[in-house]
Amino acid sequence: MKHLLVIGLLLLLSCLFSAEIKDGQLYLEVFILNGQQINVSTPGNIIISEIGSPVSRNYQGNITLQLVSKDTEVMWGLINRTEVIVPDSVSIYADENIKEKFIWKDGKLAVQYEKLTFEDKYFPSQEAAEKYAAETGYSLNQIKSIPIQNAGLKVKNGNGVEHFYQLPVSMICHDTTVFDQSKGDYTGTFIVKAIQGKLSLSNLLDIENYAAGVVPNEIGNLAPKEALKTQAVAARTHAVSLLLMNRHINDGYDLCNSTHCQVHKGNFLREPQIDKAVLDTKNIVMFYDDKIADAVYHSNCGGKTETNQNAWSGKPLPYLQGVACYPELDSIDLSIERNAVNWINQIPGLDGMSSWEKRSELWDKTISRSTLEMNSGVRNPRMVTILRRGTSGRILRMKINGSTEEIISGEFKIRQVFGGLPSSFFYFTNGAGTGTGIYSLADNISVKGKGFGHGVGLCQVGALQRARNGWTWDEILEYYYPGITLRTDWLDINAMHLNGRDPE
Ligand SMILES: [Zn+2]
Ligand SMILES: [Zn+2]
Repeated sequence: MKHLLVIGLLLLLSCLFSAEIKDGQLYLEVFILNGQQINVSTPGNIIISEIGSPVSRNYQGNITLQLVSKDTEVMWGLINRTEVIVPDSVSIYADENIKEKFIWKDGKLAVQYEKLTFEDKYFPSQEAAEKYAAETGYSLNQIKSIPIQNAGLKVKNGNGVEHFYQLPVSMICHDTTVFDQSKGDYTGTFIVKAIQGKLSLSNLLDIENYAAGVVPNEIGNLAPKEALKTQAVAARTHAVSLLLMNRHINDGYDLCNSTHCQVHKGNFLREPQIDKAVLDTKNIVMFYDDKIADAVYHSNCGGKTETNQNAWSGKPLPYLQGVACYPELDSIDLSIERNAVNWINQIPGLDGMSSWEKRSELWDKTISRSTLEMNSGVRNPRMVTILRRGTSGRILRMKINGSTEEIISGEFKIRQVFGGLPSSFFYFTNGAGTGTGIYSLADNISVKGKGFGHGVGLCQVGALQRARNGWTWDEILEYYYPGITLRTDWLDINAMHLNGRDPE
């Protein structure tokens, strides 16, 4: 077997709603790709089963999955009641009106199921439902789409033999499998559903295997082992916070595979040292008080990390208030323009760093005035005033003047306006105003900066350097997230058996 961790091939075929708790482990559906048709390439066996039915077939080699009836026939209805229910294994799949939701209950992650009961009145369009609601006094958030799940799947093997299934189906691939243009290869259990008129393919895997698929894509497969462990705990913790946001509740999976959630590419770069790092930190996540910590991370802070409220607004979290990645910055205020410029001009020590780390330490970029004009909406931009820098020196608010004037707020927006900069910790090298924060703009606007990403939480380059200098993974985490505790008791293993409560 390729991996140290046991791949959960023999999974319960009942109760595969989306996430699942089984044998004390949390299983997640992680999106891979969608389409009208999906090509599955593998040298081995594929077992396809209808979920909640005994129909199951074994295929050898490549197959094609095709959606044969679309579930685009969406109707709209009005919810008159939402009720927390105790799920019953198979019916949960049959009943489209059950929604699964992650909640934080008594200091643990739990899965809660809600049954939506609709009024006996349906509408062909959202507009029609809204019109009715306005006339009769229903609230707009009582309006929900009701997908008609009559979708079928056609499976065609290499000899042209076709079989039909009722969706959703589970698919088990014992060997290395590639789906269409998927960015990595996969092994294990997959779920195919019909979502918004397309086949949606996701990987059903436990959180340890999920973390092992994230770590090499987020910090590199060749990172020192303490940095890999640091990343494994951050990825696992961040996954739990992402689940609690329920951001993919209507998409038919729990987490996506891109930077929106965390990058996951199946077996890609998943080497023995990755599995070892995950296993050595098995089940460990970060808490602050009695809550899961928001374990955000980024590539390179550039010197100091940023506060969560500066990066995204929202209330300050005590463990995300910024730390000095370089000890010499401890007493230097990078929110002061002159200090920020001085620090950016320091030549970094690049010893032991990989090429992506070096590139994120110090960078420059030239943007044309016309690009800035297009991105900012300011006609003929001539001058920039830095209105506010954060703890990390990142620009949080600036004013651009030309024939018109715009205030640009937010580190991400500022990076975009200047053509997608690695971070908003930069200054204008060909403007006159060093120290004042007022820069005049040339035709070609040159900027110089440090860092990569939003700057909040764990700095990956800082973690790598600390690991190279002999820090252990827990020391690294406690440095970047001061005050957190490391715990393994974050999952309510009985979450599937919640007590029902009275209907509202
Ligand atoms: Zn996502
Ligand atoms: Zn750093």
